[in-house]
Amino acid sequence: MSIVRLARDVFCAEGTAVNWVLVRDGRELTLIDAGYPGDLETLLASIAAIGHRPEDVRAALVTHAHVDHVGGLNHLHEHFGTPALMHADEVPNATGERHESATTADVLTRAWRPAVLRWSLAISRAGATQPPFVAHAEPFPGEGPLDLPGGPVPVHLPGHTSGSTAYLLPEAGVVVTGDALVTGHPLSNRSGPQLLPEFFDHDRPAARDSLQRLGRLEADLVVPGHGLPWRGDLAAAAERAARLVP
Ligand SMILES: [Zn+2]
Repeated sequence: MSIVRLARDVFCAEGTAVNWVLVRDGRELTLIDAGYPGDLETLLASIAAIGHRPEDVRAALVTHAHVDHVGGLNHLHEHFGTPALMHADEVPNATGERHESATTADVLTRAWRPAVLRWSLAISRAGATQPPFVAHAEPFPGEGPLDLPGGPVPVHLPGHTSGSTAYLLPEAGVVVTGDALVTGHPLSNRSGPQLLPEFFDHDRPAARDSLQRLGRLEADLVVPGHGLPWRGDLAAAAERAARLVP
């Protein structure tokens, strides 16, 4: 299990080619995203690795309700009552009322490269074909910063899904982008800030518009849903991602 300390109280862990973030304030934690269903043991191990227990997680924040980002949420809710908060436009994706995701067929038609095939098999084992279902999903209680460890500020970045949201951690200068901006992916032969391959996005023009909004935030460390954390000028990162769009 790999977990990296990115700032004094900000940690990034990786599951099956997907990241989640733990933000600490004293004995309490905020969790941002939760890996695949098959990443649950790794998720719990990442909490233990920084000296915490799952019950320390005050709330789980969701960047978007795809199966690779919500896998551990039901376990946390059933055992510890952990709430799962997200943008109101994302709740229907979490509860299964709406589907805004690429299909297995979309992925498999591209699985002709060995690296892609290996990744496809790994994510299938991790539960990629299960639909996300988070019955306890709830919208943010109001506008502005959340009263949680790290004081995360939700930033609505629609495109990848309707309710896709980045979380700005103002004190740490970190922005957790989910899949609105990634820095690498098994289907991409580039590293660095970029959008996901187009078929993953529900609304590509909106995803491009959201990049501009992201670029105006004050942060110098990007923690994406997929790929390595990236340090640098956020406006330049957003511009690069927009430029690489074919
Ligand atoms: Zn993802």
